[in-house]
Amino acid sequence: MESLRMPVCISCGRRIVPEEKAVSFPCPNCGEVTIWRCEKCRKFSREYHCPKCGFTGP
Ligand SMILES: [Zn+2]
Ligand SMILES: [Zn+2]
Repeated sequence: MESLRMPVCISCGRRIVPEEKAVSFPCPNCGEVTIWRCEKCRKFSREYHCPKCGFTGP
């Protein structure tokens, strides 16, 4: 079950709570990693790095 896993924001490393308006999407480059971003990092457009392919994106 997806809900049992605790996603972590890829930009700040904070745990994402279900009530938060966080976003998750597959890495646009390799598509193998699910990128999670918390509400704050999304708002401030913080950078993220894909742990698999090293892709950096806004
Ligand atoms: Zn964050
Ligand atoms: Zn990637």
